[in-house]
Amino acid sequence: VNTFFRPIEKINAVIETYPRGIAGFRRYTQLLDTQPDIADAPDAVAAPALKGDIRYEGVSFGYDPARPVLKGVDLTIKAGSTVAFVGPSGAGKTTICSLLPRFYEVMAGRITIDGLDIRAMTLASLRRQIGIVQQDVFLFGGTIRENIAYGRLGAGDAEIMEAARRAHLDGLIAALPEGLDTIIGERGVKLSGGQKQRLTIARMFLKNPPILILDEATSALDTQTEREIQKSLMELAEGRTTLVIAHRLATIRNADEVYVVGTDGGLQRITHEELAARG
Ligand code: ATP
Repeated sequence: VNTFFRPIEKINAVIETYPRGIAGFRRYTQLLDTQPDIADAPDAVAAPALKGDIRYEGVSFGYDPARPVLKGVDLTIKAGSTVAFVGPSGAGKTTICSLLPRFYEVMAGRITIDGLDIRAMTLASLRRQIGIVQQDVFLFGGTIRENIAYGRLGAGDAEIMEAARRAHLDGLIAALPEGLDTIIGERGVKLSGGQKQRLTIARMFLKNPPILILDEATSALDTQTEREIQKSLMELAEGRTTLVIAHRLATIRNADEVYVVGTDGGLQRITHEELAARG
């Protein structure tokens, strides 16, 4: 059928199972960096459609087992809620999130979703239900249609346009003479940073995962574009269980729960009042 998607389908399978295989995409990034030896347990089963009730129970992990980054972390995230992780650089915010799609294996404890240990699920069925939005956008030099459809291969134009509309990209598409067929990238139309981000957000609306990991940009430029993207991300997070590696005050304020990840490997819940008091 569509020959274009064949190689992409392969790449996609690689991303869902062995992210290290796409090291060529570079900086698609730390969250997709992964332990090479993680594989399905022999008796792993395909995860059912997840609601997204997440629990970390006594989770310890270190890239070097002698130097744990996380020590006995307990965490409960209610389905549909948004938690923000804050804390000093290098404390372990990204690491906590990386354990959920099993890019790394916990050393002790366990992580469950809807009461099921994530190690009992096949990697593909787990990762299909977790969307990751990174500050660095990954687009390829194809059409807008292809770049959005990357969120869910085989999606039809109506679904693609609906995702574009929800990401507020429909105006741009309508303004382009070739619409969804517009080629982007080096050999096509150059998109602005904000438009690129919207495109990846559209991709996520199409993928429609119950669980979302947002890795927020560190350079918190408070421009109009940034604020609009922020708003779109919040719309995307609506109704999904969302983990945010937060750098922006607005995100932290809007989160249902805020956790400070300490350099001691622990996690501490902080109320909005305490947060305000601390400035
Ligand atoms: P930032 O806000 O700077 O992104 P963070 O809180 O997300 O920081 P992590 O990226 O989770 O922190 O890093 C936690 C610790 O683990 C740091 O000491 C970091 O150097 C180390 N680390 C992170 N990724 C790896 C890796 N792939 N291999 C080895 N060590 C790593």
